[in-house]
Amino acid sequence: MVTYRISSFFTILLLVLTVHILLTRKKTIRFCIVAFILNTLFVFLSGVYATEHTHNDGIVKVILYFISFSYIVYLNLVFEESISKKVFTFFSIWLFSTIALFIAIPSAELVSGNDDNYTQNLIYIFRNCINALFLLVAYLGIGKHYKTILNLVSDKTIRYMFLYPVISFLLLITNFTTPTHIAHLRNFNSIYDMLLFLLFIIVGYVLVFVGIFSASQIASMQCNMERLELISKTDSLTGLYNRRYIVEKLENEFINYKKTKKKFSLIVADIDYFKKINDSFGHDCGDQVLKAVAQNLQDAVGERGFVSRWGGEEFLILLPETEIEDARILVDKIRKTIEEEIIEYNGIQISITLTFGVTVNEDYEMIDDTIKKADDALYEGKGQGRNCVVLS
Ligand code: GH3
Ligand code: MG
Ligand code: MG
Repeated sequence: MVTYRISSFFTILLLVLTVHILLTRKKTIRFCIVAFILNTLFVFLSGVYATEHTHNDGIVKVILYFISFSYIVYLNLVFEESISKKVFTFFSIWLFSTIALFIAIPSAELVSGNDDNYTQNLIYIFRNCINALFLLVAYLGIGKHYKTILNLVSDKTIRYMFLYPVISFLLLITNFTTPTHIAHLRNFNSIYDMLLFLLFIIVGYVLVFVGIFSASQIASMQCNMERLELISKTDSLTGLYNRRYIVEKLENEFINYKKTKKKFSLIVADIDYFKKINDSFGHDCGDQVLKAVAQNLQDAVGERGFVSRWGGEEFLILLPETEIEDARILVDKIRKTIEEEIIEYNGIQISITLTFGVTVNEDYEMIDDTIKKADDALYEGKGQGRNCVVLS
């Protein structure tokens, strides 16, 4: 009985230490150590109490529920991962420890012969040696990779993976109801049966992990591609579409016009006396003003069109299927909003204005002609004294 208790204590210890290596701690080391000691002691003492009341099924069950509950509380307090990931990890290691027990049985019997007492002690020693070996391997080899995989895999996938240790565990305990007693431990017909069984579990795990790992790599590649695509079509300072992308959009709109005969409006906007802002308050302040203007334009246009940074402090806005009068109403609203807005930079309050050239495409025009028309209107506006909307 004493050997059994010491063995159980070490099993719990090794189990929980392995969890510490495979999961990410979210609390301070001191908190973790206290939680670790309290939890281990609680589980161990409850286990001792349960073994003294094995004749009373009710008590044993209640104790087992308490132990499980204490593990869940402990995992939740100490580790950063989601609850499914924590439970998955814990269940997997628990399963591994049980497998270690089944490896220990034939090995101990092989060594000890017919002395049951000696065999029983050897089983405990072998089991914990295997557990300790796994702890070492986890510490030196797989810990980092396991954390990486766990971070990559979604909670939903983990819930499916979670079925694997549960099913394996159930399969194991159908063969071994009370693994503390040798008589019950000899239920496999041969070592060969057992090896096959272990192989099933180990191969299953390897397949699950290889599958998950490649799936998550594909997902991260897709994510990178989407990011690259976004980078290729946006301006890094303002987050607006860049010149290349808006030209592409214009070409599409041009093709669309040929089919539907619905005109599109084009607006070129330029910040008035922007050079003065750079000269007076610095280039960084100029950048902040550009960002604020970009945000204003984007908010005002929303789903109605595409706002781009055409060059330095110039913006080009495309409004598909929009007549010039509707474009003018929108642009005039934007002009007023920006005129009234005060941009704050390091305690400095800055007011700016924009001049707009607005046009609509005509049947005979090429894209460059339409852009030039909007540009000409803009320069006419600059000539008229700025802060205005000129139609062309
Ligand atoms: P106007 O009313 O005639 O448009 O006068 P303006 O001063 O706005 O025009 P000008 O073309 O003389 O100056 C534009 C300035 O915009 C010059 C350039 O240094 C500045 N600029 C261009 N791109 C950026 C940028 O990304 N950040 C900052 N801070 N300034 C920029
Ligand atoms: Mg300007
Ligand atoms: Mg300019």
